[in-house]
Amino acid sequence: MESIVKKCDVLSCIQPSGVVHLGNYFGAIKNWVQLQDTHSCIFGIVDLHAMTEKHDPAELKKHTNQMMIDLITCGIDPQKSTLFVQSLVPEHVELSWILGTLASYGEVSRQAQFKDKSKRKKEEAVSVGLFSYPLLQAADILIYRAKEVPVGQDQKQHLELTRNIAERFNSRYGDFFPIPEPKYSETPKLMSLADPTKKMSKNIGSKHYIGLFETEKSVRKKVAAAMTDSGELKKGEMSPGIKTLFDMLGQTSQQSDYISLLNDHHNGNLKYQHLKEAVANALVELTTEMRQRRAEAEADISLINDSIREMSFHARKLAQETLYEVKQRVGIKNLSHF
Ligand code: AMP
Repeated sequence: MESIVKKCDVLSCIQPSGVVHLGNYFGAIKNWVQLQDTHSCIFGIVDLHAMTEKHDPAELKKHTNQMMIDLITCGIDPQKSTLFVQSLVPEHVELSWILGTLASYGEVSRQAQFKDKSKRKKEEAVSVGLFSYPLLQAADILIYRAKEVPVGQDQKQHLELTRNIAERFNSRYGDFFPIPEPKYSETPKLMSLADPTKKMSKNIGSKHYIGLFETEKSVRKKVAAAMTDSGELKKGEMSPGIKTLFDMLGQTSQQSDYISLLNDHHNGNLKYQHLKEAVANALVELTTEMRQRRAEAEADISLINDSIREMSFHARKLAQETLYEVKQRVGIKNLSHF
């Protein structure tokens, strides 16, 4: 087999968590949609990562199918990009074993996300899968020889580990992997409306996030209940709650409202009620459009299934080419060696 490994400009993955919230959309997916026009992109739904903590098999299947529909709804376009499901490309796991032989126990156990997550577990045992998660993540990136990886700041340390492993591989077995560069999102990290000191996330409960497909009633209720003031503020200072509301409005198409309300804040005559109304209206417009688009996509579910299967097959071919070359270099057998 001749090495014809293609290069991928951008690689990014998302876990099938069951809910796409505004943090995921504004912080990651919206950016992916734009990148498709300028870069050769591969996106992955990483269902194997969703198994590192105790999970319900039926839910995992459902959430993976849901994420396929949601990403297509958001604008990931099979004509422009490749969107694969991780478990359909088993080469990721094989490569992660090889990469694991290049990583030290110390550096993997120093990963902050592992330390945080394992500390939070009380009765449940901490799995080896949770520990080796960053190695699988390194394989997700390196198997496509990605040059750039759009990530949030929370993934900085994992990407650093991937870069170190790639450098080690190259120096031990000869230059092969591009060293992937992080592409940090310019979007501010969106915080929870109910508690603006916490990152918007599904894990901390439904009042802490707004779903991209949430109903009008629910969106309005959550915005109305959003925390605004928290203690004493100096003149002109913005409380975390108000900042969160502005951050959200700033991401929507309602830029004129955003600018005029921000001016009101600077002039000291911002009415919180007006800000909340503007945020609720902008978010209702977005979520209503997204729900309509998702209903249209769902009507053609067999088309989505066929297309994801085909794209995963394509991703697998690329992954197999990389793995073939890796095996050659590290001295393990490829079938064609017989
Ligand atoms: P997760 O499923 O939490 O790993 O997130 C998937 C993507 O969404 C990652 O690129 C995250 O950086 C991004 N993301 C998740 N939560 C937020 C948030 N609250 N604000 C901005 N981006 C986020």
